[in-house]
Order: sequence, then C-alpha cells, then structure tokens
Amino acid sequence: MTTMTQTAAKADTGLLPIVSTALAGVFLIFFAGFAQATVFHDTAHDTRHAIAFPCH
Ligand SMILES: [Zn+2]
Repeated sequence: MTTMTQTAAKADTGLLPIVSTALAGVFLIFFAGFAQATVFHDTAHDTRHAIAFPCH
C-alpha cells in the first residue's frame, strides 16, 4: 500500500519538470525567433555566439 502510493507520487512529479521545461524551451525559441524588437533578436544572436553555437 505504501509502496504503491510512493510510486504513484513519483510518477506524478516526474512529468511536470519535463513538460514545463519543454514549454519554456518552445517559448524561448519562438519568442527569440519571431520577436519584432531587434533587441531580443540581437540578444539571442549574441548568446548563440557566446556558447559557440554555429550561426553563420
Ligand atoms: Zn551569428
């Protein structure tokens, strides 16, 4: 009984970080990619260069 409760609780908490992280990542990508303000785009561009991500 106790084991089943712990397993269920572990399964419930295991999905929330994955979903929230995925939503945050999608939000950041679309926010930086389609932002009209050049400040946001330039910030994302500079961040890509700072982490040595291939850009152009
Ligand atoms: Zn670049």
